[in-house]
Amino acid sequence: MEKKYLKIEKQDALEENILRWESVQDRLKENLGAQIYSSWLKNIKLIKEYNHYVILGVQTRFFRDWITSRYADKILDEIKKHKLSINRIEFKIQEEKTDIKTVYSNDLENNVSDIKDSVLNYNRLNPDLNFNNFVVGESNKLAFMSAKKICGQLSRYNPLFIYGGVGLGKTHLINSIGLKLSENNQVMFISAERFMYQFIKSIKKNEMVNFKDFFRKANVFIIDDIQFIRGKEGLQEEFFHTFNSLFDSSSQIVISSDRAPNKLDRVQDRIKSRLSGGLVVDIGIPDYNLKLEILKKKITEFENTFKEYPNLSEDVIDYIAKDSNSNIRELIGVFNRIVAFSKMSKKQLNVNDCKIILKDIYKSTKVITIEKIQNVTSNFFTINLEEMLSQRRSRPLARPRQVAMYLSKKLTTRSLPEIGRKFANRDHTTVIHAVKTIAKLMEKNDELKKNVEEIRSIILSD
Ligand code: ADP
Ligand code: MG
Repeated sequence: MEKKYLKIEKQDALEENILRWESVQDRLKENLGAQIYSSWLKNIKLIKEYNHYVILGVQTRFFRDWITSRYADKILDEIKKHKLSINRIEFKIQEEKTDIKTVYSNDLENNVSDIKDSVLNYNRLNPDLNFNNFVVGESNKLAFMSAKKICGQLSRYNPLFIYGGVGLGKTHLINSIGLKLSENNQVMFISAERFMYQFIKSIKKNEMVNFKDFFRKANVFIIDDIQFIRGKEGLQEEFFHTFNSLFDSSSQIVISSDRAPNKLDRVQDRIKSRLSGGLVVDIGIPDYNLKLEILKKKITEFENTFKEYPNLSEDVIDYIAKDSNSNIRELIGVFNRIVAFSKMSKKQLNVNDCKIILKDIYKSTKVITIEKIQNVTSNFFTINLEEMLSQRRSRPLARPRQVAMYLSKKLTTRSLPEIGRKFANRDHTTVIHAVKTIAKLMEKNDELKKNVEEIRSIILSD
């Protein structure tokens, strides 16, 4: 017990810490520059501040996507400097009708459990995540069908347990269930993390009776990211009782997790056995077709929002679907970035542009080295690396060497003398000469240009 109270005190201290949004904004302006600040960040409003996350308001969907893909990390970092406990930002579009706030207030009057505690809006059904815009493919078909089935036949399969890796659509799917069922039921939708927060808060305020009532009166109880309870004994105890009480009163329980029930280590066995006692389905890695369909859906959404077609060629769409990793959240992030760039540059991007755009964004995390450029270039021309760096001047060696120097200049921040040194101690004037020669040749020699671009994309793509 002692331990619990310790935790609460800490929580208290964090709560006192109020975020000063203006100073966050000032810092962002300093760090990112006045131009970026005034185009993208200035109008962001702090809507609501919780212990572990904040809700920021933006004007349009486009702004939200753009800011999310480019500046969210920086904003979060800055916020953390002001308030350490924040670990997540959520953006809300303030103008649109489907604003989450509107949904809250409607639902509050209607049939989603009332939220007494003003600080805690834990009912967070998001109207944007519904069955209609959930694209079905091989990897999520079973989960989707199960979700639908639940909605038609409450508490027949209890609980429904959906698990899968990060960014694969778990929250989207269980949110869809919540939205659908909230038409006729008392739906409680909460993340395991927030469940804990509320739990601790209730102990502190001596309101455990209310807490129990509150959660147990739902007839549909949806809990996201249950893996969060791992290793938290007190929380597991409470969850177990909540679960049993809901189960006994035939409430439908829906759970998401990043792993299968039996893989939930540091979770009590009796909980694991409850979790796997209903229907357990997984969401797998999306294949090419599913990714393609999701992109098409995103394009349609874009068209509906902006009344214009995002200027993406078939090739580019194919590239995004093929090349992106297996995480749907990232797939959408990539799509948003590319659309935003295409919109800003007002031209139809080709695959190579996309690679560069995406690389630009990842550059901060991945460093391209001169060694890497040398390796890829010599491999590409199937010559020996030592020979490429040697003093020999024959064309089949000199040209690749110049290409490697050219790319070193273009893709790294190394100075000319530094590059020279890495090429067997050549002088910086040799590097300048190489850069100029290749740039000039690329203008008239298509073959060379193609080769350089290909090498560039190999370097950038892994
Ligand atoms: P998880 O909870 O598994 O980490 P999310 O449900 O948050 O993943 O999904 C990540 C993003 O991908 C969300 O924007 C979601 O809308 C989108 N997404 C995931 N699966 C699909 C799908 N099948 N169709 C459309 N969008 C999807
Ligand atoms: Mg999730």
